[in-house]
Amino acid sequence: MDSNEIFVKCECGTEGMMVNHDPEYNQYYFSYWGYGTNPKNRGLWRRIKYAMRVIFHGKIWKDEIILGPREAKELVEFINKTQNASRG
Ligand SMILES: [Zn+2]
Repeated sequence: MDSNEIFVKCECGTEGMMVNHDPEYNQYYFSYWGYGTNPKNRGLWRRIKYAMRVIFHGKIWKDEIILGPREAKELVEFINKTQNASRG
């Protein structure tokens, strides 16, 4: 992973969210990884499903959204606001 990406794990430890920043367009790519980053930890059937997903869809995340600078700022402000409110 380079400095332009972060993988945030779900509390349950299974899924996760990858956030990539594209400095050229200043956009953020949020992708939801339904099986985490290490399919070897899963059972055989889940690993087969994972492989099929890569073969047929060419990607291992389930979905992705792209945020521009304005949306990214809104998200940061929302997280800061809610974090500050729940502190203490
Ligand atoms: Zn989870």
